[in-house]
Amino acid sequence: MKRYLVKPGAKVNLSEFDPADTGEFKGGKEAALAEFEKLNKKLETLQELLFAERKRKVLIVLQAMDTGGKDGVIRRVFDGVNPAGVRVASFKAPTAEELEHDYLWRIHKQAPGKGEMVIFNRSHYEDVLIVRVHNLVPPEVWKKRFDQINDFERMLAENGATILKFYLHIDKDEQKERLQARLDDPTKRWKFRLGDLDERKLWDEYMKAYEDVLSKTSAEHAPWYIVPANRKWYRDLVISSILVETLEDLKMKYPESEENLNGVVIE
Ligand code: AMP
Ligand code: MG
Repeated sequence: MKRYLVKPGAKVNLSEFDPADTGEFKGGKEAALAEFEKLNKKLETLQELLFAERKRKVLIVLQAMDTGGKDGVIRRVFDGVNPAGVRVASFKAPTAEELEHDYLWRIHKQAPGKGEMVIFNRSHYEDVLIVRVHNLVPPEVWKKRFDQINDFERMLAENGATILKFYLHIDKDEQKERLQARLDDPTKRWKFRLGDLDERKLWDEYMKAYEDVLSKTSAEHAPWYIVPANRKWYRDLVISSILVETLEDLKMKYPESEENLNGVVIE
């Protein structure tokens, strides 16, 4: 799965990444689902360890074009984890109060505390994506943000955060199908916004903005992964694998009780 890692400093050209890639699981959806279930159980245990140890913080950033699958990942990959230790923070267009502050103000407030795992559904990266594509601030303002974001994430990492960033890569045809499905299905229609069609027209500009994000902000301590996301089962498998592997590498341990329990007898 490390093949999806963006090496720090590497220049990313998204047209070289196949959104329909299914790696070693060519045609093997069943095998992939079985593997996914195993990873899901491991994730449950690792999250419990994180919570019990109460030392580290885990931040997972999800970014994608509309219909890219952020909600699906949250539902599927984190299925079964203990909600007491996991939180989702969704970032919409900033409120008036948020706009009074710097763009990282609302982000920092949602960063994970000790033992916590936080999933960012959209993030500070919107401030160099939608903000750039729609000229919401001038280029001299957003261009400085890549360095600012790198500094911010390094600070979080130096203060105990493990950061993983996933860009869910779908293509324009797949988005068309998914938008159509939203339109046709009364249980999905609430997610459809006419504005999504305007964003779709700006697809190429978004790809350029994403390429800059991926090229400028993948770091050892806060890596980006480009996840092939046309196939939902493969997308989930990739994210789950990377997450489990990263958490296993932390070598977490259940803490001892804070009290001396030697010789304790329960009558
Ligand atoms: P959704 O994720 O579909 O609920 O949509 C949330 C919307 O908020 C998207 O259109 C985002 O692009 C937008 N959004 C998120 N962060 C920002 C931001 N910093 N500035 C402007 N729009 C944003
Ligand atoms: Mg939306």
